[in-house]
Amino acid sequence: MRPVVVTVAITGSVARRADNPTVPITPAEQIESTHAAYEAGAALAHIHVRADDESPSLDPERFGRVQEGIRRHCPDMIVQFSTSGAGSDPEERGACLIHRPDMASLTTGSVNFGDGVYENPAASFTALGRRMRAEGVSPEIEVFDLTHLHNARRLVDEGVIGAAPHVQFVMGIRNALPPDPHLLDLLLAETRRLLPGATWGAFGIGRFQSPVMGWALARGAQGVRTGLEDNVRRSKERLADGNADLVRLAAEICAEHGARPATPAEARAILRLD
Ligand code: ZN
Repeated sequence: MRPVVVTVAITGSVARRADNPTVPITPAEQIESTHAAYEAGAALAHIHVRADDESPSLDPERFGRVQEGIRRHCPDMIVQFSTSGAGSDPEERGACLIHRPDMASLTTGSVNFGDGVYENPAASFTALGRRMRAEGVSPEIEVFDLTHLHNARRLVDEGVIGAAPHVQFVMGIRNALPPDPHLLDLLLAETRRLLPGATWGAFGIGRFQSPVMGWALARGAQGVRTGLEDNVRRSKERLADGNADLVRLAAEICAEHGARPATPAEARAILRLD
């Protein structure tokens, strides 16, 4: 069976304990939840940190603690920090890069996000991209809109990022890209034209998590993403019993498409890390 990189997005910035009591908040909880997801087959952990009151945080010290714990308990797992942070300057959003994680997310443009706007002005994502390059951190380009691919191509042309990054399509955020397989085809065609050689994955929010995963696998995605950041439910009737529960579900969907979760070593080779 074909190995596919399973990313677990353990916490995010939206879901609260009130939505699902297993959402990990403190670094210790995040490490424990990541470890369970790793044992279930996740090879890449996508990390946001929170303050103790559950509000989103950009505290580099917390990022460092989580990375240290993952490196200790989950040998070879790929650590990816989020650099999202609505309204914050790129300096603050990139402060976590001091820990030189394997990867970091890089959103190459602004987009409507629910009732708000997720702001990523060109000067901001360019500065973040440069900081990643300086620290030797591989970017994952988060694509919420077609223009984000074109902006990524510009960063390649300017030498800010490498020519074949990992691209992640985000579907199902209200007022952003709707979850639609036709749109995924369109985005993929444009990716192949603009960033030939890029690896890619796609994920859906909420109840679209499993369908988007299926569409991505059917189209040969190198990666899929799951986790409580994107969806807190196992099914309409039942909350997910932690991140590992969602990783097990992802492994089942992979199997339906002749794929299996990649080991961390395989994932590093697929994403051309190290
Ligand atoms: Zn995230």
